[in-house]
Amino acid sequence: MKTIIEPFRIKMTEPIKMTTRDERVRLLDEAKHNVFLLKSESVMIDLLTDSGTGAMSSEQWSAMMRGDESYAGSPSWLRFEASVKNITGFKHIFPTHQGRAAEHILARALVKPGVLIPNNSHFDTTRANMEVAGAEARNLLTDEGMDLALNHPFKGNMDIARLEATIKEVGVERIPFAMITVTNNAGGGQPVSLENIKATKALLKKYNIPLIMDACRFAENAYFIQQREAGQKHRSLMDIAREMFSYADGCTMSAKKDGMVNIGGFLCCNNDDWAEQFRSLLILTEGFPTYGGLAGRDLEAIAVGLNEALDDDYQAYRNATVRYMAQKLDAMGVPIVKPAGGHAVFVDAAKFLPHLSPADLPGIGLVNALYIEGGIRSVELGSLMFGKGDAPAPHELVRLAFPRRVYTQSHFDYVVEVMQEVYAKRHEIGAHRIEKQAKFLRHFTAELSPAKSITAKAVA
Ligand SMILES: *Cc1c(COP(=O)(O)O)cnc(C)c1O
Repeated sequence: MKTIIEPFRIKMTEPIKMTTRDERVRLLDEAKHNVFLLKSESVMIDLLTDSGTGAMSSEQWSAMMRGDESYAGSPSWLRFEASVKNITGFKHIFPTHQGRAAEHILARALVKPGVLIPNNSHFDTTRANMEVAGAEARNLLTDEGMDLALNHPFKGNMDIARLEATIKEVGVERIPFAMITVTNNAGGGQPVSLENIKATKALLKKYNIPLIMDACRFAENAYFIQQREAGQKHRSLMDIAREMFSYADGCTMSAKKDGMVNIGGFLCCNNDDWAEQFRSLLILTEGFPTYGGLAGRDLEAIAVGLNEALDDDYQAYRNATVRYMAQKLDAMGVPIVKPAGGHAVFVDAAKFLPHLSPADLPGIGLVNALYIEGGIRSVELGSLMFGKGDAPAPHELVRLAFPRRVYTQSHFDYVVEVMQEVYAKRHEIGAHRIEKQAKFLRHFTAELSPAKSITAKAVA
């Protein structure tokens, strides 16, 4: 098979500032050993997140020039609405400034204290919005989805049996809606099968509970369905996406993902009563319903971007980049979560650095080594991010997330080379300690320091 090439040419470039190892040692020290505190120009390859970090196409940039900034009834709004309706089929469309604003309006309208919102896996802002409104946000991922090392095509699937058990446990009246997240971000973008979305809807219908789709990576999910699910190979991504949305009663969306833009989002529903409430809250917190939290030009870029995300060649290339990295790392013996998801590769830092305990923050050790050796920025999803006080997180992971249409294959080859170097020297990577931390979301601002010694490992 021939190399899957980037299905685009580059018209505008952005320089990467080259740094030396010595400079990076100093820069990381100045940033208190926390890559969130680095200036982005100190980073050579930035794999911190795929959210809002993508490159727009020439079609999107030209659409932006057509942006009409009228307060009400702008043609940009009409094009945006038509594009979202064409893909999702929903009756009511509300533009928001990003995904969490859609979640906020949804929660504020429909969540009352004491309710429970099931989801295959709540994304952190979704969980926070549901919890602030008084709900219990419960994850109902299948056992396969929770097993890091297991190779399974649809590790984002909802556990249907546990969903039914949850409904019976708390009662229908305490579940205003259920959610399903495609792809499941928490696992690096693990997909949900069409069969599972359909089965989730069928069960909820029996109890008259509406289903809201967290649709941030709907196009990547559609691609996995096309490639992995029986009988789906011949279908277009648009066709699959429409069927996915057909099982939902509404959706929340961050256009910073499969909207292929740098800012934006939307909230959709079919229910007229909900729409009434959403509209009032939208006006209160985001803006008039025909622009929401966005400029006319942003609406134009999203209208185009949603369709570009459903292009077969784009998705084939997108998926190939993630797979390429995963295969290379796996072949080197680097422990990764399998199979790789749609937008990121996860390295198991606990296995990568078996000499370190959770208290030694192995994820931070790996993140910082990747920065020092190669100027690569990744992110820890381990005990610094998810640990509470001294209690460790269930896993010590490092995520390499892939911005859309930004880096080329040589950039990825470089990342692999740096990882190889770090892997060869892994025994030299030491512990980190927290010097200063905030009460909430401490990973963003924590000040860290390399420790002189490591924590003695308890003998099991
Ligand atoms: C990014 C994301 C959100 C929140 O969207 P923002 O645009 O960052 O506010 C919600 N759910 C999932 C699954 C996401 O990946």
